[in-house]
Amino acid sequence: MTVGEALRKFWGFEGLRPLQGEVVEAALQGQDALAVMPTGGGKSLCFQLPPVVDGGLSVVVSPLISLMKDQVDALRLIGYPAAALHSGLSGAEAQEIKGRLGAGDVKLLYVSPERVMTAGMMDALDGADMGRGVRRIAIDEAHCVSQWGHDFRPEYRILARLRDRFPAAPIHAFTATATPRVRKDIVEQLRLREPRLFVGRFDRPNLTYRVVPKTNLLSQVLEAVQAHPEDASIVYCISRKDTERLGEALRAKGVNAAVYHAGLEPERRREVSEAFAQDRVNVVVATVAFGMGIDRSNVRCVVHASIPKSIEAYQQETGRAGRDGLPSECLLLYTPGDIASWRRLISESSAPERVPYDLGLLDDVRRYAVTQGCRHRFLSEHFGQDYTPPNEEGCGACDLCLDGFKEVEGSTKKAHRILATVGDLVRRHGTFLFGAGHIAAILTGSRKQEVLQHGHDELRGHGCLTGYSPSQVSDWIGQLVDQGLLVRTEGRFPQITLAEAGAGALRDRQEVALREAPAGRRRERGVLLPDADQALYADLRAYRTRLATERSLPAYIFFHDATLLGIAAARPSTVEGLRGVPGLGESKVKEFGADLLQIVETHSRERGLSRDQFAEVARPVPAAPRTGSAETLAPLFARGLTVAEAAVESGLAPSTVSGYLAEWIRDTRPPSIDPWVDPGVQDQVREALEAVGIGRLKPVFEELGGAVPYEQIRVVVAYELSREPAVSG
Ligand code: ADP
Ligand code: ZN
Repeated sequence: MTVGEALRKFWGFEGLRPLQGEVVEAALQGQDALAVMPTGGGKSLCFQLPPVVDGGLSVVVSPLISLMKDQVDALRLIGYPAAALHSGLSGAEAQEIKGRLGAGDVKLLYVSPERVMTAGMMDALDGADMGRGVRRIAIDEAHCVSQWGHDFRPEYRILARLRDRFPAAPIHAFTATATPRVRKDIVEQLRLREPRLFVGRFDRPNLTYRVVPKTNLLSQVLEAVQAHPEDASIVYCISRKDTERLGEALRAKGVNAAVYHAGLEPERRREVSEAFAQDRVNVVVATVAFGMGIDRSNVRCVVHASIPKSIEAYQQETGRAGRDGLPSECLLLYTPGDIASWRRLISESSAPERVPYDLGLLDDVRRYAVTQGCRHRFLSEHFGQDYTPPNEEGCGACDLCLDGFKEVEGSTKKAHRILATVGDLVRRHGTFLFGAGHIAAILTGSRKQEVLQHGHDELRGHGCLTGYSPSQVSDWIGQLVDQGLLVRTEGRFPQITLAEAGAGALRDRQEVALREAPAGRRRERGVLLPDADQALYADLRAYRTRLATERSLPAYIFFHDATLLGIAAARPSTVEGLRGVPGLGESKVKEFGADLLQIVETHSRERGLSRDQFAEVARPVPAAPRTGSAETLAPLFARGLTVAEAAVESGLAPSTVSGYLAEWIRDTRPPSIDPWVDPGVQDQVREALEAVGIGRLKPVFEELGGAVPYEQIRVVVAYELSREPAVSG
C-alpha cells in the first residue's frame, strides 16, 4: 500500500502535514530519526503509517497507559491492526494479544518502558509477526529520558538497551520539547545512529493568543468559557487550592466545571479525565497535572488563570487547544503579582543550582506577557524560528495584531499621578511601604479604615483617579512596574516603591503609555470555517456523545469536529459523498455511514435544505509553511493531478501545494485549468474579478460570499495573470 492509499483507507485524510512525509520516509528507509514537533503537530501518524505501508511490525514505547489505550481504541475504530501490552491487562488478555502478535495480526504494538525489556516481552517480540520480529521502534515522549526535560522518568533510561537488543531496527524518537540540551540528551541516551533531525514549525496559526490584565478572575474566566458554550475549555491554575476555589465559584455560576489536580484520589482523577474525554464535562479547572494523556482534539479554549513558569510550559499547555486545526483561543490573565509569587516559589523549592535557570525561564514568560509585538512572532522566535505573518495586518490571531495597541486616554497624566502619590508615600513613611491595593484605594478616593487610619485621605493624590475602579488602577500600577518606573518588593505581601526611573520620569515630565485592557473585544479569526448548518452540527455532535457514552470511549476518536462540520456543511446524500468528507476512512464509513446519512436526511427534509453542497466544504487546514519545492511538484501538475492528489504524493499540505500550483501556472501558462477548478466555478471567479479587480484575494473571496475557497481563487487569478501580455518597457 502506498502512503496515500493508507491515508485515505484508514484515516480518510487528504494529505500529510509538513514533516510527516519526511519522517515516514526515513522510517521506511530504515534511518534513525529525532522528530521534534509541537503538541498537536501530528506525531502519531508518523509511527502509525509505516507498518501499514510496508507490513513490518513497529513497537511504540509510550509512557502512559491511558494514552496507549486511547490510541489503540482510536486505531481499532479505523480498522487498523494495533494492540497494547501493559500492566493493566489480565494474564489472559495479555496472552491473547501475544497470540495475535505471533500470528502477524498486530502491526503496531504499544508497550510501556518498564515492560519492554522484560524477558517475557523479548520472547514475544522475537517470535512476533510470524517470526520476522520487530521491524522498527518508536519512542513517544522521548524527552522523558532526559533529566533536563520537564518530565524525567527514570524508567526511560532502560530504553538505551533497545539498540543492542534490536540492532537492525531503526529507532525514531518523538518529542515536543525543543531545547538543544534535551535533544542532545535524547540522541545520546537512546544511542541513535546518525539520526535525521526533523524540527517542525512551532507556530500554531489556528490559536489566537490574548493576554489580559487580571482584574476580576472569576468574571474573566466566566466570560472566556461562556464564549465557547458547547465546547471544551481548560483553566490552568498554579495551586490545588486555587483550582478548588475557582471550580466551586464557576459551579455556583451554573458552569458544569470539574476540578483536577494531583491531590485527588486516582479514582476521581480517572473519572474527571473520562468525563472530559466523553464530552460529558466541558470545563476542567486544573493544575498542570492535567496534561499528558489529554488528547481531546476539540479543546477550544485554554485559560491561564496565572502566568505559567516558562514559555515551554505555556506552549505545551496552550498546545492542548485546537489540536484538530480549528480556530481556538488561549487567554492568559496577567498580573505582576503572580511573577512575585513564582519568584518566591522558585527560591523556596528549586535546587539552589537551578534557581538562576528557573528565574531566567520565568523572566522569558514575563516578557511574553508584556510584549507589545505580535505574540505568534514572539513564540516562534523564542523557539529559534523566523515568523512570517500570513497577511499585511499581521498574524490575525493575537490580541496585539487584532486589537492594536490602544493607549489609555491621558496616560501620561494618570501615570504621573500614580508615580507622584507613591513618591509622597515614600517621603512620608520612608521604608514602610504599601501594597498596590492600598495605593489604588487612595487614588480612587476610598475612605476605608486603612486609608483614614494612616491619614492618607489628606494626601494630594487622594481621589485624583476617582471614577476608575481600584482593580483598573491596580492594573496601571502593574504596568508601571513592568515598565520599570515602580518597583514591587518580593514576599508574601508585595509592596510598591518608586524606582529611580520613575522619579526621573516625573522630574523630566516624560511621556508614559498605559495600555487599555482589550476586554470583550473579539474579532474574526484567521482560519476559514465551512458554512455549516449549526442545528445539524449539534445533532451530529449529540450522536457522537451517544456513541462515546455507550461504548465508554473518548468522543473525539469517533469523529473530529472538522469532520462533523464538513458533514453539516456538505449534507451528503450518498456513501460516496461521505467519503469526500475529510476524516472518514473506510471503516468509519462502513460502521457509522448509515447513521450519519440518516441524521442528515431527517434534518434536511425537516428544514427543506439542499444536499451534496461540496463546494461549501472549505478546508479548515491552516496555511502551512512551505518546504518542498516547485520543481518537485511541476511534474505532478503537468500530469494533471489535483491539489489533494499532489499533496498526498508529495507529502505537502494542500495549501502549500496550491501556492506552488499558482506559481507553476503563472510560469508555464497551461492552456486550461480545468483539472483544478470546475469550469463553472472559474466563471464565477472571473465575474467577481471583474467586479473587484485583480489584486488581493480577500475582496474576491468576499464578493463570492465565501462560497469558493481561497485555494481555488488563487489558481484562477494565477491563470488570468498568466494570460495577460507581459508588461514591457
Ligand atoms: P501530537 O501527538 O503531535 O500532539 P497528534 O498525532 O495527536 O499530535 O495529532 C493531532 C491531531 O491532528 C489529531 O487529531 C490527528 O488526527 C490530526 N492529524 C494528524 N495528521 C493529520 C493529517 N495529515 N491530516 C489531518 N489531520 C491530521
Ligand atoms: Zn500577532
